[in-house]
Formats: sequence, C-alpha cells, structure tokens
Amino acid sequence: MTQPIAAYESGLFLSLWESQQGCCALCGESMPRSRFEVAHATIWKRERPTFDHIVPRAAGGPDRAENLQLAHARCNKRKGKDQAASDGRVRT
Ligand SMILES: [Zn+2]
Repeated sequence: MTQPIAAYESGLFLSLWESQQGCCALCGESMPRSRFEVAHATIWKRERPTFDHIVPRAAGGPDRAENLQLAHARCNKRKGKDQAASDGRVRT
C-alpha cells in the first residue's frame, strides 16, 4: 500500500499535508517534510510521509484524493500488516 510520493502529483501531497497539518493520519504525530529534516536516510525511510489508501486498493479503494491520506512509512506498513492479520476490515 506504500506509494512513493514522486509517483503522484505534488499538488495532491500539498493539499493533504495542509489539511492534516503535517501529522500522520494513523498515529497523529508530525512527519518530516523532506529528507533534509532528519539526520539519517534510515530515519527518513521509516518516517517519511507516504500516501495511505483509506480503503485499500486490494479491497477496491480508488486511487483518488478522497481515498488517500498521509501517514508515516512505518505506520502505513504496520496498518497493512494488521489488515492482513485481521479479517480485512479497514481501520480509519
Ligand atoms: Zn505515524
């Protein structure tokens, strides 16, 4: 479910970023805006903002702004795991 931001229009990223005020949609903590705000590439890899599908694409969720939110890469990954482990219901 993790998508690199460059694959999307940056305007979409900005509008989501502003409506979430730079906070992760899953854990509520702030996210680094760019690689240069964190000390190490490894931290960036875990904490970078990623597009999260509210309804997973695997469950038929559309690839559109109303189905997308921004979340840390680590939170996005964890959510995917939880969903795979549960009965497939979506937590939002
Ligand atoms: Zn998070």
